[in-house]
Amino acid sequence: MSSPAPVAVIPPLGILPLARTAVDRGSDRRIAADLFEQIRTGPATRVMYMAGGRALISDTEVVLSPVAESGFGAVPVYLGRTLADAQEPAGTDVVLVTLAQEDPLLENDGARWASLRDAAVLLGELDTALFVEAAAISNWHATHTHCPRCGAPTVPEQGGWVRRCTEDGSQHFPRTDPAIIVAITDPADRLLLGSAAAWKGNRYSTLAGFVEPGESLEGAVIREVAEESGLRVHSPQYMGSQPWPFPCSLMLGFTARTEDPAATPDGVEISDVRWFTRQELGEAVASGEITIAGGISIARNLIEQWYGGPIAEPDAGARA
Ligand SMILES: [Zn+2]
Repeated sequence: MSSPAPVAVIPPLGILPLARTAVDRGSDRRIAADLFEQIRTGPATRVMYMAGGRALISDTEVVLSPVAESGFGAVPVYLGRTLADAQEPAGTDVVLVTLAQEDPLLENDGARWASLRDAAVLLGELDTALFVEAAAISNWHATHTHCPRCGAPTVPEQGGWVRRCTEDGSQHFPRTDPAIIVAITDPADRLLLGSAAAWKGNRYSTLAGFVEPGESLEGAVIREVAEESGLRVHSPQYMGSQPWPFPCSLMLGFTARTEDPAATPDGVEISDVRWFTRQELGEAVASGEITIAGGISIARNLIEQWYGGPIAEPDAGARA
């Protein structure tokens, strides 16, 4: 008797653009002290290069290069073993090599250096996932070169997923900062968007903020909304999550409701807050009066989930 197929549990926002899985990260493989020696000469081993937060891409793919004769360099990170996709069979071990600067010698066959923000709209799902993983772990290594306990240098181990203090032996693990982002509606089912003081132009988005130590996600939703808009919200509902490695966030999307729509921007982080009906938002975006977050963001996905479909922008209309 066969057991029933597992039921995929997908949150209301579905699988978000940056929430993909490209590799089997191989936590069992990466604990081997000689991991990089083992895979250095493997025929299926490939290197993903990054420099200054940018990776080498070509068209719709992250460039995966053969291992250089000089090996993997000082701080290689084992990204994992690829899963099958339309272009590649499964089973390629991918190693992230971070260079001190972009190497023009690697730019052959149309390859170029691109940031994740620029590349994410071009790359396929698995290549985006590789880039997200690489950017997040690379950002962590760049800023955790010393021990937070004693200040001594730390060295990478376990395939680049741990750093160990050279003085006191303490282990330090990659850091991820949870942040909530929330689509707030009022009794008329209007959506609240805010404009951050730091943003250029007339840009509006859902309110967001970091979760503080000792706080639940729901507590962070209620606190952040009160701080930024003066609104008292209730009933936070989880909608989905995706990594946001700029430099190391995990965005957790929520909806929440308020009974009293009298909102006041804090005047520091948030310079304006506005309630929109669906018609008002559609018209404000289509006319170019305001801009909203781009398609790879969880903000855009939260807004369109409320809106009931894609929101047309003036550029897209002009090109069509
Ligand atoms: Zn130490």
